[in-house]
Amino acid sequence: MSRKPMARPMAYPDRSWGTRSRAPSPRRERGPRWGMVRLLAGLVFLAVLFGVGYTLWRGKTAIVAAPLHPFGIVPVSLTLPPIWPTPPSSPTPTAIPTPGPLPIGIVAGHWGDNNDPGAVCDGWLREVDVNLAVAQRVVEALRRKGYPVDLLKEFDPRLKGYRARALVSIHADACLYPEATGFKVARVEESAIPHVEDYLVACLVRRYGARTGLPFHEGSVTPDMTQYHTFYEIDPNTPGAIIEIGFLLADRELLLHRQDLVAQGIVEGILCFLEGETP
Ligand SMILES: [Zn+2]
Repeated sequence: MSRKPMARPMAYPDRSWGTRSRAPSPRRERGPRWGMVRLLAGLVFLAVLFGVGYTLWRGKTAIVAAPLHPFGIVPVSLTLPPIWPTPPSSPTPTAIPTPGPLPIGIVAGHWGDNNDPGAVCDGWLREVDVNLAVAQRVVEALRRKGYPVDLLKEFDPRLKGYRARALVSIHADACLYPEATGFKVARVEESAIPHVEDYLVACLVRRYGARTGLPFHEGSVTPDMTQYHTFYEIDPNTPGAIIEIGFLLADRELLLHRQDLVAQGIVEGILCFLEGETP
């Protein structure tokens, strides 16, 4: 079995390589062809330089850094937006202040009018005091249900052009007629929104009558109600109504001592309207 011939001993490197004299430079011999190569290399270099410069100028270093990373892994911190122009995005929604829900307006009849407290009975019972006590209860009850409510005076400056989901003015009838009992509800004579206001009136009539047990005193709906000044001050599109909650003589017990019930009847009428119930 013959052995393979041993590999030829490796020659020692020529120790003179560092110092030996070079042969005449071949570059000179390659002539114009080598010049062309250098020119092309220069152009490529410039192109790369331009590309890098442009990219850096765009501030998108990640795209440059990515292929240069030794493991071809783009560091997470460098995965930044691409170099191509981003399309114009839709404008960031700005917080436009949206108007809050419209309030409910409750007028306490004669409140704030020092010249006219409304009806006065027996020298001490003033209509304005009854109206205000009931109105305050209505406001509190509606607020407890989460509705924004304004308690308004008879000639409240806010009533000019007042916009509301509904406006109800609370009054009580005089004590001139001992036999008179009952309540009344009316809207403005010439309504801009007759169907809406008729619906508000219907809700108030049905709910208030059911809650208090008072009859509807239809015969005494007067121009004082249908031409009530507040109706001409508020925005024509604000549904408005005036309610006379009872007579201060025959219905006194109810109006003075069961004001929560009186207020509840009004609240239920307003809620019937707001919530679209069948009157
Ligand atoms: Zn009145």
